[in-house]
Amino acid sequence: MIVTRFAPSPTGRLHLGHAYSAALGHQRARESGGKFLLRIEDLDGTRCRPEFVDETLDDLHWLGLTWDEPLLVQSQRASAYEAALQRVADQGLVYPCFCTRSDIAAALEAPHGAAAHYPGTCRGMPDDPERRASLPHSWRLDAQKALALVGLPSWTEADGRHLHSTREDLDDAILARKDAPAAYHLACVVDDAAGGVTLVSRAADLRSSTPIQRLLQTLLGLPEPVYLHHSLVVHADGRRLAKRDRAPTLAAMREAGIDGRTTAADLLAGKLPLGFAFAQA
Ligand code: GLU
Repeated sequence: MIVTRFAPSPTGRLHLGHAYSAALGHQRARESGGKFLLRIEDLDGTRCRPEFVDETLDDLHWLGLTWDEPLLVQSQRASAYEAALQRVADQGLVYPCFCTRSDIAAALEAPHGAAAHYPGTCRGMPDDPERRASLPHSWRLDAQKALALVGLPSWTEADGRHLHSTREDLDDAILARKDAPAAYHLACVVDDAAGGVTLVSRAADLRSSTPIQRLLQTLLGLPEPVYLHHSLVVHADGRRLAKRDRAPTLAAMREAGIDGRTTAADLLAGKLPLGFAFAQA
């Protein structure tokens, strides 16, 4: 029995790539008699908007996809993330980071931690509770120390390949943001485990997130899922579909009277509307 999840961030409208991702995860779960979970990744309070959550639900209904309860909303899960952070902290593997917003924004601009490595400015500084009490700070993983403890992570892809990460794949990732009790990687592994997710199916551009997430699973004693990093849907000329692109959102397709169930079935059969193509990351 396979448990999958679709985990959109409500920062914009969904596009065909999201539809493919959701339809694929749904198919894998349903054909095994398992569960398909939906999770709203809304920890970024500045970029997430509630109306995009409503639209996401409408889009999934339109595609003919049904999800199993509970619907998980990350902004309501602070205590679970705090407990996980504490568990990593108890192993002496986190440090507070006071780096400015612009440093961090630059790092977060690339998708999910694919940015240049954190230069380590705050690593190894003596703990200063007064500074912590008065200045906003995030919490970072000390990757070097973590690796010395548990070694380099590896993972298994749905096609059976066993892949190994390298030291360069791992950074001192932010585990808790200055403005939220968790950052993407920590929340993701905590929630995947809480839902009993056995197959993490997501687009290939998130493959770079897998080493750090496997490392966190090991540190937290969480079960290891299998990973399916599926193709991306791109414009026929190779350009990425960006949420900020005006077209083609699923909402626009819905409003144009296009049939969602047929769209989902076509995507699963490898058929895309004119002007789009599948690509590896
Ligand atoms: N929230 C992420 C996104 O919308 C997906 C995270 C994941 O599937 O692990 O890109």
